[in-house]
Amino acid sequence: MLTGGCLCGGIQFQVVGQPNKIQLCHCQQCRKAQGGPFAANLAVNTDDFTIVKGEEFLSEFESQTIAGKIRIFCRCCGSPIISKLDSSPGVVRVRVGTLDEPFASDIALHQFVAYKAQWWDITDELPKYDEARPKK
Ligand SMILES: [Zn+2]
Ligand SMILES: [Zn+2]
Repeated sequence: MLTGGCLCGGIQFQVVGQPNKIQLCHCQQCRKAQGGPFAANLAVNTDDFTIVKGEEFLSEFESQTIAGKIRIFCRCCGSPIISKLDSSPGVVRVRVGTLDEPFASDIALHQFVAYKAQWWDITDELPKYDEARPKK
Protein backbone atom coordinates (compact mmCIF):
# COMPACT_ATOMS: atom_id res chain seq x y z
CA MET A 1 0.00 0.00 0.00
CA LEU A 2 1.09 3.54 -0.73
CA THR A 3 0.07 6.64 1.16
CA GLY A 4 0.14 10.22 0.02
CA GLY A 5 -1.20 13.63 0.79
CA CYS A 6 -1.17 17.30 0.00
CA LEU A 7 1.32 19.94 1.11
CA CYS A 8 -0.72 21.22 4.08
CA GLY A 9 -1.50 17.70 5.28
CA GLY A 10 -5.25 18.26 5.14
CA ILE A 11 -5.74 15.53 2.56
CA GLN A 12 -4.40 12.02 2.96
CA PHE A 13 -5.02 9.10 0.64
CA GLN A 14 -4.12 5.46 0.14
CA VAL A 15 -3.38 3.41 -2.94
CA VAL A 16 -3.56 -0.38 -2.78
CA GLY A 17 -2.53 -2.94 -5.33
CA GLN A 18 0.54 -3.30 -7.46
CA PRO A 19 1.45 0.14 -8.86
CA ASN A 20 1.58 0.70 -12.59
CA LYS A 21 4.46 2.45 -14.24
CA ILE A 22 4.59 6.24 -14.13
CA GLN A 23 3.55 8.31 -17.13
CA LEU A 24 5.06 11.73 -17.72
CA CYS A 25 2.75 14.21 -19.44
CA HIS A 26 4.28 17.28 -21.05
CA CYS A 27 1.03 18.89 -22.25
CA GLN A 28 0.60 22.58 -21.57
CA GLN A 29 -2.30 22.01 -19.18
CA CYS A 30 -0.28 19.59 -17.04
CA ARG A 31 2.65 22.00 -17.03
CA LYS A 32 0.43 24.80 -15.80
CA ALA A 33 -1.37 22.61 -13.30
CA GLN A 34 1.91 21.38 -11.78
CA GLY A 35 4.01 24.50 -12.26
CA GLY A 36 6.77 22.27 -13.61
CA PRO A 37 8.05 20.76 -16.84
CA PHE A 38 5.59 17.83 -16.78
CA ALA A 39 3.12 15.93 -14.63
CA ALA A 40 4.18 12.56 -13.23
CA ASN A 41 1.04 10.45 -13.15
CA LEU A 42 0.17 7.00 -11.90
CA ALA A 43 -2.97 5.37 -13.26
CA VAL A 44 -4.83 3.65 -10.42
CA ASN A 45 -8.13 1.78 -10.47
CA THR A 46 -10.78 3.92 -8.79
CA ASP A 47 -11.48 1.07 -6.36
CA ASP A 48 -7.83 1.04 -5.27
CA PHE A 49 -7.75 4.75 -4.39
CA THR A 50 -9.21 5.99 -1.10
CA ILE A 51 -9.29 9.43 0.47
CA VAL A 52 -8.53 8.69 4.12
CA LYS A 53 -8.75 12.24 5.42
CA GLY A 54 -9.75 15.68 4.20
CA GLU A 55 -12.51 14.96 1.70
CA GLU A 56 -13.80 18.46 2.51
CA PHE A 57 -10.60 20.02 1.14
CA LEU A 58 -10.98 18.50 -2.32
CA SER A 59 -11.70 21.03 -4.99
CA GLU A 60 -12.26 20.40 -8.69
CA PHE A 61 -11.31 22.15 -11.89
CA GLU A 62 -12.74 20.97 -15.18
CA SER A 63 -10.57 21.40 -18.25
CA GLN A 64 -11.77 24.15 -20.56
CA THR A 65 -10.61 22.24 -23.63
CA ILE A 66 -11.20 18.58 -22.71
CA ALA A 67 -14.80 18.11 -21.59
CA GLY A 68 -15.07 15.75 -18.64
CA LYS A 69 -11.43 16.06 -17.62
CA ILE A 70 -11.41 16.98 -13.94
CA ARG A 71 -8.34 17.97 -11.93
CA ILE A 72 -8.77 17.55 -8.20
CA PHE A 73 -6.60 19.54 -5.83
CA CYS A 74 -6.43 20.75 -2.22
CA ARG A 75 -8.24 24.05 -1.85
CA CYS A 76 -6.06 24.96 1.15
CA CYS A 77 -2.57 24.48 -0.27
CA GLY A 78 -3.19 23.92 -3.99
CA SER A 79 -1.47 20.53 -4.23
CA PRO A 80 -2.70 18.60 -7.26
CA ILE A 81 -3.88 15.16 -6.11
CA ILE A 82 -5.58 13.29 -8.96
CA SER A 83 -7.25 13.79 -12.29
CA LYS A 84 -10.25 11.95 -13.70
CA LEU A 85 -11.62 11.63 -17.18
CA ASP A 86 -15.31 10.92 -17.78
CA SER A 87 -14.38 8.69 -20.70
CA SER A 88 -12.18 6.53 -18.40
CA PRO A 89 -14.51 6.10 -15.43
CA GLY A 90 -12.61 3.29 -13.73
CA VAL A 91 -9.32 5.13 -13.38
CA VAL A 92 -7.86 8.05 -11.45
CA ARG A 93 -4.43 9.48 -12.20
CA VAL A 94 -2.51 10.11 -9.01
CA ARG A 95 0.12 12.87 -9.02
CA VAL A 96 3.15 10.83 -8.05
CA GLY A 97 4.90 13.70 -6.29
CA THR A 98 2.23 13.63 -3.57
CA LEU A 99 3.16 10.10 -2.45
CA ASP A 100 4.88 9.89 0.95
CA GLU A 101 7.12 6.85 0.72
CA PRO A 102 10.20 6.43 -1.37
CA PHE A 103 8.40 5.09 -4.38
CA ALA A 104 10.23 2.65 -6.58
CA SER A 105 8.56 2.41 -9.93
CA ASP A 106 9.76 2.73 -13.45
CA ILE A 107 8.71 5.46 -15.79
CA ALA A 108 6.78 4.06 -18.73
CA LEU A 109 6.75 6.86 -21.27
CA HIS A 110 6.54 10.51 -22.17
CA GLN A 111 3.40 11.87 -23.81
CA PHE A 112 2.44 15.18 -25.45
CA VAL A 113 6.13 15.73 -26.09
CA ALA A 114 5.27 18.12 -28.96
CA TYR A 115 4.17 20.60 -26.27
CA LYS A 116 7.04 20.17 -23.83
CA ALA A 117 8.84 23.04 -22.14
CA GLN A 118 11.63 24.34 -24.37
CA TRP A 119 13.96 24.54 -21.38
CA TRP A 120 13.53 20.85 -20.49
CA ASP A 121 15.59 18.27 -22.33
CA ILE A 122 14.40 14.69 -22.31
CA THR A 123 17.57 12.64 -22.07
CA ASP A 124 16.25 9.13 -21.51
CA GLU A 125 15.48 6.48 -24.09
CA LEU A 126 11.88 5.83 -23.04
CA PRO A 127 9.05 5.89 -25.57
CA LYS A 128 8.03 9.42 -26.51
CA TYR A 129 4.71 10.34 -28.11
CA ASP A 130 4.01 13.72 -29.67
CA GLU A 131 0.38 13.46 -28.62
CA ALA A 132 -1.46 11.09 -26.29
CA ARG A 133 0.01 7.64 -25.82
CA PRO A 134 -1.67 5.17 -28.18
CA LYS A 135 -4.55 3.28 -26.64
CA LYS A 136 -3.81 -0.37 -25.99
ZN1 LIG B 1 -3.55 20.80 1.35
ZN1 LIG C 1 -1.14 16.44 -19.62
